Amino acid sequence: MQASELKQQLIQKAKEIGIDKIGFTTADPFIELRERLVEHQRLGYASGFEEADVEKRVRPDLHLTKAKSIIAIALAYPSRMKNPPKSEKGKYRGIFCRASWGEDYHKVLREKLEQLASYLRQLVPDAKTVIMVDTGALSDREVAKRAGIGWIGKNTSLITKEFGSWVYLGEMITDVYLPPDQPIEEECGDCRLCLDACPTGALVQPGQLNAQNCIAYLTQTKGTLSEKYMKKIGNRLYGCDTCQVVCPKNRGLHFSHHPEFQPDPERVKPLLKPLLKMSNRQFRETFGHMSGSWRGKKPIQRNAIIALAHFRDRSALKDLAEILRTDPRPDIRETAVWAISRIGGPDAKQLLIDAQKRETHPDVLQMIDDVLISLERNIKE
Ligand code: SF4
Ligand code: SF4
Repeated sequence: MQASELKQQLIQKAKEIGIDKIGFTTADPFIELRERLVEHQRLGYASGFEEADVEKRVRPDLHLTKAKSIIAIALAYPSRMKNPPKSEKGKYRGIFCRASWGEDYHKVLREKLEQLASYLRQLVPDAKTVIMVDTGALSDREVAKRAGIGWIGKNTSLITKEFGSWVYLGEMITDVYLPPDQPIEEECGDCRLCLDACPTGALVQPGQLNAQNCIAYLTQTKGTLSEKYMKKIGNRLYGCDTCQVVCPKNRGLHFSHHPEFQPDPERVKPLLKPLLKMSNRQFRETFGHMSGSWRGKKPIQRNAIIALAHFRDRSALKDLAEILRTDPRPDIRETAVWAISRIGGPDAKQLLIDAQKRETHPDVLQMIDDVLISLERNIKE
């Protein structure tokens, strides 16, 4: 079969199995990306979650010898929720970012790519394939860009004409030659809404993200966060959508045709207080199917404490005091100390003084000292 015909067959199959966009590119190294990644690492902008070996990130042939082509795919996900539950006094809620709504997209996209790979093997029996979805070494965005799926905006998201940046990306390297597509020529122009809207200034310049300052990354870390970030996180439990929400290329775009990605409002906008007491098992049963659970319950619980502070929820003081008494994790106690001081009020100081008498961990004690000093200062002012 001719390469162009093979490509058409794959495009047809992709449609049948619910892939929203498909594009093709060569397996040539991503030369330009190499320089940017080295610079990124030198500046300390990497998140640490990505593959550390730059060569593996830019050379498809290191993952499949004789690699000739890469097939990139995109699936659209919803940007709105039907009947979102409201945060109410004493019943405040956190939020998971849209990319974590519904079933874990890693699994969904991998299954689609596996279906496509087995179809390719029907047409070319000895075809070899390697599938990657987000956690692979290659950059999904760079592959998708070169394969003509979309362009990369100043907010570093891959933006498609049809679905904006509300798309999941994945790819398959193969040793079969498939004619490549052309990248799309479109840009942000004078717009800089995302740079101005970013709460932490993580977009250091158009198209350059310092992951160490980005809330999307910070919500996934496990330790105590510095105060400047805790003040900015708001009620985000996992991820941050701000630079995509403000993007005019996403205006009015919402796609609900994949039932797997439909959000369960009680799960993606859960009540905060019950999160504090969840067992590992309850956490897995409630959130285990969502991509936002991949780091386990600790970051989500820490973020829930920060969110309670954001809402200044005095009714949460009792729960936070219990954390100080019983939670074995110093990072979580330290965050609870900060939250209690931020919520403030007549009981907060006493709770902290009581905790000071019991606490033995130096970092938590230090946090108690710091917040008591600032509470004193606030009372005097
Ligand atoms: S995800 Fe949030 S914190 Fe990160 S760059 Fe976008 S707006 Fe800024
Ligand atoms: S908000 Fe504006 S500058 Fe940012 S990615 Fe969207 S179009 Fe580009």
